[in-house]
Amino acid sequence: MKQKVYLFTKTAFVRGMQCRKLIYLDKYCSKLRTPPDAETLARFKKGRDFETAFKDLFPNAVDVKQHHKIVSEKYIDFTQTLLDKEGKVELFEAGILYDKVLVLTDVLRKNEDGSYDIFEVKHSEKINSAIAWDLAVQYYVCKHKLHRINTFNVVTRVNETEFLVVDKKEELEEKLDIVSAHIKEFEEILQGFEPDIPMGEQCENPYPCDFRKYCMMKQVL
Ligand code: SF4
Repeated sequence: MKQKVYLFTKTAFVRGMQCRKLIYLDKYCSKLRTPPDAETLARFKKGRDFETAFKDLFPNAVDVKQHHKIVSEKYIDFTQTLLDKEGKVELFEAGILYDKVLVLTDVLRKNEDGSYDIFEVKHSEKINSAIAWDLAVQYYVCKHKLHRINTFNVVTRVNETEFLVVDKKEELEEKLDIVSAHIKEFEEILQGFEPDIPMGEQCENPYPCDFRKYCMMKQVL
């Protein structure tokens, strides 16, 4: 099997911040996951619809996923080729890789002067811990790879068609070192054995974990 070009994704990083065992199971034992129920699927759909409504504000953007369905080296190279073009470039799902971590940005705009504006869309009114870490790791990767970040924005929900756009760049600058330390920690976890972590508050917070059934079964065995 061809090796992936990344060790883990932004989503996996966020899961690791919820629970160290979760990032391990997510990578190596995904078959043990309980599939999402109807309520969760409906929530995901609302999130996708909200993201699409925001993306509609960028009618000239190129959707990288439309050109490469699988996120591979080609996907990342294609993103770079588009960003290397002269002038303004707007992309959906740009694939950026740094420090073995892959992020796909919701909306990435390269401006005429070569600086970047990034928009991460969240169908939420509040920034919970998962969203905060999502932004932090995404900023870390984008900052090291793209260098000239003009703004790094989180787009949250006022209502289904109104968006609140807030630039978090300054705040995220302060989290670069802690993100780097966690990436190293997760790299070590993924090179070892399944972490022995008892169930607790983390199993429901900030989101119910997909591996609860597995961990519950293991606890009673
Ligand atoms: S169920 Fe709890 S202990 Fe098990 S992986 Fe998920 S968060 Fe971690």
